[in-house]
Amino acid sequence: MSGKMLAGITGVLLAIVMCCIGGAILGAGGVAIAACANPAPSLTDAASGSPPPASASGWPAIGQWSSSQVANAAIIVAVGQQLHVPPRGWVIAVAVAMQESALTNTPGGDQDSVGLFQQRPSQGWGTPAQLIDPVYASTQFYTALLRVPRWQDLALTVAGQAVQHSAYPDAYAKHEPDALAVVSTVSGVAQAALAACGAAGPWTQPVHGPIVSGFRTPQRPTHQGDDIAAPPGTTIVAASAGTVSVVACQAIAPDGSDYGCDRDGSPTIKGCGWYVEIQHGGGIMTRYCHMKTRPMVAVGQPVAPGEPIGLVGSSGNSSGPHLHFEVHINNDRSSNGAVDPKRFMREHGAPLGSK
Ligand SMILES: [Zn+2]
Repeated sequence: MSGKMLAGITGVLLAIVMCCIGGAILGAGGVAIAACANPAPSLTDAASGSPPPASASGWPAIGQWSSSQVANAAIIVAVGQQLHVPPRGWVIAVAVAMQESALTNTPGGDQDSVGLFQQRPSQGWGTPAQLIDPVYASTQFYTALLRVPRWQDLALTVAGQAVQHSAYPDAYAKHEPDALAVVSTVSGVAQAALAACGAAGPWTQPVHGPIVSGFRTPQRPTHQGDDIAAPPGTTIVAASAGTVSVVACQAIAPDGSDYGCDRDGSPTIKGCGWYVEIQHGGGIMTRYCHMKTRPMVAVGQPVAPGEPIGLVGSSGNSSGPHLHFEVHINNDRSSNGAVDPKRFMREHGAPLGSK
């Protein structure tokens, strides 16, 4: 098949180009990973358990968050720094407080909930007098977070829920972009570096097989993922921990009608076929297209790295069985948010195309 040969040649050319820019990218990744492990020591001279020194003019308002709300976020972050909690923990804590109390230190709330995290005295978090102290409340949150196994590898919703036992854990996710912006401002750590901490992994190949068509090649400049060839029925797994955000069938016939996904598509059919999207930490999303049958997972379901999510097929816009795999950053599902999966996965310790 000439198309396949062309794809193979393109893959070789792509690999040559990739090797030359890989060094710079890996260097940047190393910096980000170091920042994830080492909290900025800017407040280490503050007395243990004290709130951060506010500047004379106070903290700025950020988006919908007022100066006083941002000041409460600054306390949460400062406590995390003093406890040597990695920066990902600061983002989780601020996002949870955004949802639970709108970053407002309130003495009342749902049932007997108190304070920034709406912790409940009846569940052993502390007395109402203790929990209204933002430093005490933050310390209690981090202490519980650090007890969650591998919390840094979990999606924000999963990590937050493990601490809070909230009735609405999925609501934490919508605050992640705001939490990144606010934490960046009050900590001085660059937003991109904070976001990268959320993608710390572990990551794993969704399918083991050769890449037969690459990301945005000269021949396919709008191809927003990598095509990994594998026999039909091969199990596709989640590339990292996260929460399933989309499960859908997308297959549109040339006349605009719904072609359906429970049969093979073709190059004249538009769409991803049966597909899944998974939200990971740090605004990262992965997409898995052309599955053979309805995916094995449901929207809202937490998944572990390597957990089966579907089977390789050829539904939708596809000329043969393969996994079309995309990686998106910045909470952007559009093609603008897509990055090279081959490069991303190599940087995260799970290079595509290997055994
Ligand atoms: Zn593709």
